[in-house]
Amino acid sequence: MKYAVETTNLTKDYQKKRVVNEIDLRVPTGSIYALLGPNGAGKTTTMKMLLGLVHPTAGSVTLLGEDMNDKNRLTLLRQTGSLIESPSYYGHLTGRENLQLICMLKGAAESEIDHVLSIVRLEKQQNKKAAHYSLGMKQRLAIAAALLGSPRLLLLDEPTNGLDPAGIQEMRDLICSLPKEYGMTILISSHLLSEVDQMADCAGIIRGGELIFQSSLSALHEHSRKNLLLKTMDNNKACLLLKENKLPCRTEGEYLLLPALSDPETVRMTALLVQNQIGILRLTEKQKSLEDIFLSLTGKKVSL
Ligand code: ATP
Repeated sequence: MKYAVETTNLTKDYQKKRVVNEIDLRVPTGSIYALLGPNGAGKTTTMKMLLGLVHPTAGSVTLLGEDMNDKNRLTLLRQTGSLIESPSYYGHLTGRENLQLICMLKGAAESEIDHVLSIVRLEKQQNKKAAHYSLGMKQRLAIAAALLGSPRLLLLDEPTNGLDPAGIQEMRDLICSLPKEYGMTILISSHLLSEVDQMADCAGIIRGGELIFQSSLSALHEHSRKNLLLKTMDNNKACLLLKENKLPCRTEGEYLLLPALSDPETVRMTALLVQNQIGILRLTEKQKSLEDIFLSLTGKKVSL
């Protein structure tokens, strides 16, 4: 099976307003696919349609190689774990008791609980009431719940929302380990490119309900190639000198902005400055933001 998720012309209208427009998602089996887009772009609605939580206005969904319909929906969803919007749990129950409940609902064996607790590293806190968990722990509990039943497909809607940088890194490591260790396919949504950058293999960018880009992450990197930020003792002189030497640059605040340069070009650029007695104070790479990529893909500025 080439794709774990495939949609054709998937569309949703709310009160005559189109919020998802003829989306053809292609999520390769075994991949981590990042669905990227600003708030309100239609990511959650798309994911809900994949899970049958929202009825599509038009179009079709194929999950795990089967066209989803009323008859096979439950069978397919049994093989799909999900975390959509904020994690839900019973605060007065412990982490473990919450998972026992989910086991009953999903028809999964309780013997799986120890394993999913260890995957999300909650073994030590399993007997604490969920209400007393930190946000990161609640998020991990929700992922543990999604993992019960050994799903082949995992849908995660902004799973790092509200987490601190350490929590985000932990979540990223956890998500990265799942396809390798358990052969899962993961579809994750985010409004931050930087968040999924070191994790995803494929990406789709959704904007105003339209899928404006879908490809490998390396193809996205072609659009998001880093710029160089340069600060010198005399930026005006440096800018003129670089332009004369076919190194395009422009002023951005107290820095000069250059396109990504190869290593030999970087050596040539710095040597040129030094030979002309222009001291280099800073030279750093600047990753393009999702907003910059939208701009280069669509030519339109978008507010995130
Ligand atoms: P966010 O990251 O903010 O959740 P998103 O990309 O997930 O954004 P959606 O939640 O899918 O976006 O929302 C897409 C659009 O659909 C928004 O304009 C939203 O207001 C609208 N929308 C979502 N759910 C409903 C609903 N039940 N009724 C009417 N409009 C809705």
